[in-house]
Amino acid sequence: MDQRTEYLLDWYDRNARKMPWRGEKDPYRIWVSEAMLQQTRVETVMGYYDRFLQSFPTLQSLALAEEKDVLKQWEGLGYYSRARNLQAGARQVIQDFGGTLPVDPAELRKIHGIGPYTAGAIASIAFGVPVAAVDGNVIRVISRLYAIEENPEKTEIRDRVQKLAEKLVPTERPGDHNQAMMDLGATVCVPGTPDCEVCPLLGLCQAEKRGIAAELPRLSKAKPPREIRYDLLILRSGSQVLMRKRTEKMLQGLWCFPMMEDWKNETEITGEIWTKWGFSCAKMICHGEAKHVFTHQTWRMMIYETEIAGDCETPKGYRFVSVGDFEALAMPTAMKKARALVLDRFSTMKT
Ligand code: SF4
Repeated sequence: MDQRTEYLLDWYDRNARKMPWRGEKDPYRIWVSEAMLQQTRVETVMGYYDRFLQSFPTLQSLALAEEKDVLKQWEGLGYYSRARNLQAGARQVIQDFGGTLPVDPAELRKIHGIGPYTAGAIASIAFGVPVAAVDGNVIRVISRLYAIEENPEKTEIRDRVQKLAEKLVPTERPGDHNQAMMDLGATVCVPGTPDCEVCPLLGLCQAEKRGIAAELPRLSKAKPPREIRYDLLILRSGSQVLMRKRTEKMLQGLWCFPMMEDWKNETEITGEIWTKWGFSCAKMICHGEAKHVFTHQTWRMMIYETEIAGDCETPKGYRFVSVGDFEALAMPTAMKKARALVLDRFSTMKT
């Protein structure tokens, strides 16, 4: 066994992070945890993992569920395509693999939503296949360990990182090794300044020896998210509120309040509501701004509330939702402030 691997496993035995999915051998449950952990903090996922698995305890139950129920369980976790991919993948496993996740990482990668990293994680942790699982944390550790100064976003450098990561994977305990790499990257070999003093690889790490650890990996600078301004409309009709199910790729299938791009004044908004949907509005209440930062976009939403009149025919793609149904809708976190305002309004109506 490579000395680095040996030291790392020894460190892992003493320092492994405690997480509900640790020690898990069921490939479906590992798959769920890995899907949830993509771009999401461990602490956030902890609040979702058990609840999701209580609702969908098996791959079969997830495959048979209605998408709206899956999205509801994912509500607030973000990157909702992961939930849809997970369900599409579960359905594919039933259709193409007899309901059982395959052992071979190459077969796993044929499943919808399973990329090289997730395939490596499932194969090594659930089935003990000696294959690497290389995510952003592991790229950082490998880049530093071998002092790779080129940008790992370049294909040839990424391939080199992958090969070096594969070389470290032991035939015994490959799953623990991969999890040790992830933990090291998340807690010690962190972005910015790594905590080399407590690192089990200190003395074997080339970047640390050369004093360049904090500079690696040399990634290209991320573009700041594009800012988009919206007027977000709480349009009430009696005890109902108008909602729209998104069809766009981003947040697809989730329910949002009607939104109009750009900030306008109340007269302009009222006019646009009339032109677009034929609703006349009572005086508007402005509840101020809500802001939500996505990876590539920042939404700055000015929230307006009004009672609408007219024949109130439901526009295509929209739904008037009553008090009872409102809470059951899967909504993105971006709608949190408006949602709370409506729940508050509804609770006043009940009393
Ligand atoms: S010695 Fe420092 S830079 Fe090298 S792997 Fe450990 S924490 Fe990372």
